[in-house]
Amino acid sequence: MGRSLRIAMISEHASPAAVLGSTDAGGQNVYVDELSRHLGRLGVQVDVFTRRDAPDLPEVLPWAPNVRIVHVAAGPPAPLPKDELWPLMPLFRDRMLEWLRRNGLRYDVIHGHFWMSGWVAIELRRRLSVPVVQLFHALGTTKQRHQGSADTSPSARIAVERQIVREVDRVIAQCPAERAELLRDYAADAARLVSIAAAVNPQRFRPVPRAWARAQLGLPLERPIITYVGRMLPRKDVRNIVRALALLVREGVAPAPLLLLVGGETADADPRATPEIGVLQRLTTELGVRDLVRFTGKRQPDELYLFYGAADVVVTTPWYEPFGLTPLEAMACARPVIGAAVGGIRFTVRHGVTGWLVPPRDPQALAVCLRRALSQPDLRLRMGRAARRRVLRAFTWPLTARRTLALYEALATHQAQAEPAALAVNG
Ligand code: UDP
Repeated sequence: MGRSLRIAMISEHASPAAVLGSTDAGGQNVYVDELSRHLGRLGVQVDVFTRRDAPDLPEVLPWAPNVRIVHVAAGPPAPLPKDELWPLMPLFRDRMLEWLRRNGLRYDVIHGHFWMSGWVAIELRRRLSVPVVQLFHALGTTKQRHQGSADTSPSARIAVERQIVREVDRVIAQCPAERAELLRDYAADAARLVSIAAAVNPQRFRPVPRAWARAQLGLPLERPIITYVGRMLPRKDVRNIVRALALLVREGVAPAPLLLLVGGETADADPRATPEIGVLQRLTTELGVRDLVRFTGKRQPDELYLFYGAADVVVTTPWYEPFGLTPLEAMACARPVIGAAVGGIRFTVRHGVTGWLVPPRDPQALAVCLRRALSQPDLRLRMGRAARRRVLRAFTWPLTARRTLALYEALATHQAQAEPAALAVNG
């Protein structure tokens, strides 16, 4: 193609500029940030449209070479829970259209992230006849199945997701489990599904000697350390890890391991800001393991390699996990991962090779696995190395960006042949 492609990413609640580790800022922020930057490096012009959630944000924020963030004024310029954003989406659409007209911009492809942005994307597709790629990051049917009445998603969610699946040009599935869900629960057309895995930055998430990482963090050298990194939400089931730790202690494993819990709304592990931290603190007291659990609060992505690196083993046992970046991050840091055998974790963690898979909601099974892992240092070392190799082979952002670009190019070419007029107005 003779000119660079121009792509509109829509990510209504997850801005690349948001701080991570809190309730609604997680993997999607990282994904949109890394994908956009890497597309930018490949010469693609990317504008990321996200809701303006603070009064002092500029309308257009230059973010990385060829990448800009466009803040869309829909609703109050303040943080809102993502489950309250749905009624604002028609306004988001209108403001986005206004901005496009004002700036005389046309895009070759619109890429929707999450279901609400997917709805905006199909609304724009109807008006602008631009091809749309959708990536859900999480699906309503899975959330409903696992959370039942605790699911606070707007009631329209699943019907809107079905509509998106029917109307968009391509849906990206991040792992075989997501692909199967799209086919089974959403009657997706297999010909319009494309499998592209998410990735990790292996320079940011790099292996360092365990003792050095522990020294940096002021952690003891002589005790086993188990690390969890991620948002502190019931569905991440950190309680399961605390219960498994208590079982190990009851069985008399010595020395007793430390459990490092990284994440939360604030940098100081405040149970008022993060209710799940309060629940976990009470549980550790109840089970007599309070002294063995350290809450670090939310940490910045560029310091996480220390927390992974300090660990003998990294654990994540959510009820469900659409993809799960943290297992990949741990693997890139050459640490074995014990993960629940759900969703994307079944795809990223190779059981017996880069770590272990255990059933979710089963502290006993996790305790057995932890004991085995902690008693085999050589195996852990081999698994850690195999994990890093697996990441470098299959889960890097340049790879994800190249695959996504190939998809955009195929759609843009097709569109150009079908509707030559759409080409002429590129800004
Ligand atoms: N994260 C972070 N600081 C923290 C906790 C988590 O930067 O204190 C990041 C973590 O490194 C990962 C993301 O938040 O990149 C969580 O993504 P994941 O896909 O594992 O889960 P999600 O939050 O999307 O459910």
